[in-house]
Amino acid sequence: MSERKFQRCTNCVMDTTDSAISFDEKGVCDFCNDYYRNILPNWRVDEESKAELLAAADKIKKKSKNKKYDCIIGMSGGVDSSYLCYIAKEVMGLRPLLYAADTGWNLPVADENIEKIAAKLHLDLVAETIDKEEMADLQLAFFKAQVPYQDLPQDHAIFAGLYRYAVKHKIKYVLTGANNATECIRPPIEWVYQNDLKFIKDVHRRFGKVKLKTFPTCSMLRYRFFYPYFKGMKRFAPLNYVEYDKEKAKVFLQEKFGWQPYDNKHYENIFTRFYEGCYLPRKFGYDKRKCYLSNLILTGKITREEALEELKKPPYDEETMKEDKAYIARKLGVSEGEFDEIIAGENKTFKDYKNSYGFIRFCTKVLRKFGLEKKMFR
Ligand SMILES: [Zn+2]
Repeated sequence: MSERKFQRCTNCVMDTTDSAISFDEKGVCDFCNDYYRNILPNWRVDEESKAELLAAADKIKKKSKNKKYDCIIGMSGGVDSSYLCYIAKEVMGLRPLLYAADTGWNLPVADENIEKIAAKLHLDLVAETIDKEEMADLQLAFFKAQVPYQDLPQDHAIFAGLYRYAVKHKIKYVLTGANNATECIRPPIEWVYQNDLKFIKDVHRRFGKVKLKTFPTCSMLRYRFFYPYFKGMKRFAPLNYVEYDKEKAKVFLQEKFGWQPYDNKHYENIFTRFYEGCYLPRKFGYDKRKCYLSNLILTGKITREEALEELKKPPYDEETMKEDKAYIARKLGVSEGEFDEIIAGENKTFKDYKNSYGFIRFCTKVLRKFGLEKKMFR
């Protein structure tokens, strides 16, 4: 797999550690070309987009007229979701319900941010706790499966929990913090993979020990077809309609709501910090900072040289990594030695397990054909 000669894009900092990356004759990668061809021409932030945002707000309000809430927002306490809450309430004039899932890994600062934003914007907050034992069992199963996507159990629980709650309470609109400004380069499937329930179940069937009784789940079929077409669920991403500069948003949130940034930039909790900053780069050679920094290059926030400088630094310090690893092992109910042994196994991918990759790919192709999905998928 890694026999390919190392090559880095001449425009961004993505490289052949993404084995499916391709380059044109100028050495520019397919992510960059996709951005200039498909994302940028359809993405503008001006008076017109503001008008579109307000028109969407009107539509959402009308559809939810006799309900307590217009929409639901999955709130993590991070910049994207916190800023989204502000846009939804103050700019769009909506009545969102904030949904927070506690997967057991939240940093106290994230929880405080959630409370602060909810209180200062006078928004109702519903917090669901994911069963700790089930969560830990699934996460340990994922480590044993030797796959890169260790954030999948948490992500899936949050996403499925939110939808389950929304459908139960008949809230039709899900506002998401997804945005082109910081996510125009999506980490490749090889690094991150998707919310594929078939795959999650197979990993758990092989390596799990505890029955998943209350753990929220949502299959692709349910998400792509049943929810939108039978339950009338709609997703909307307001941050694509406003000027969204993460650094400016952070300052704004701090000044207006007393919101606090995390110590480690975009690591939302200890698990993610260890997974993205240590496990993924060391075991697989995947460094998600490359995507993050490439986004900043494409959107003109930093230069390629600055990004390369940043990549020379380790994701985070060795001492904290050790502490995180010990903490995670303890929470997953294994000794540090056992955890080391598990991590040291032979690397695998989703292809080594049952999965819905073919189906997801087919759906995305269809959506792209109809212009409903702009981002590249491979
Ligand atoms: Zn590139």
